[in-house]
Amino acid sequence: MIALSSAQLDHIRILAGRAYPEECCGLLIGNDRPDDIVAVTRIVESVNVRRDRARDRFEIDPQIRIAVERELRDGPERVVGHYHSHPDHPALPSATDLEMVFEPSLIWLIVGVTAGRAGEINAYRLDTTAVQFEALKIHENMEPNR
Ligand SMILES: [Zn+2]
Repeated sequence: MIALSSAQLDHIRILAGRAYPEECCGLLIGNDRPDDIVAVTRIVESVNVRRDRARDRFEIDPQIRIAVERELRDGPERVVGHYHSHPDHPALPSATDLEMVFEPSLIWLIVGVTAGRAGEINAYRLDTTAVQFEALKIHENMEPNR
């Protein structure tokens, strides 16, 4: 399960709407709770560096990834996943998405955008067979860990 606040989900929807008709993307920073829930602590926006196919492809700026990893090096947080939008397509992983899984540990958050309006957000992770995505439950507004 992945936990995000309503504010984080709204923020992603706003970014997805703003990027329309192109795909938005960015990193999800978070930590692993003892109850096996991945809690997102913040979102780092990226430009979509796939300028040639920005309407149906995305790529997070590698410089942002490097800077984030450096910043997180000695702390409790890590890059837990990333988000991207599907302009005029549902919030389901595409065949291209599956081909683009280079890091099986990362969670994929996909936001569907219809005519500029962001809607459903779904989370996925590669399943244990490592050849397909499985849906991951999103827990919205979990109580902070004590
Ligand atoms: Zn996609």
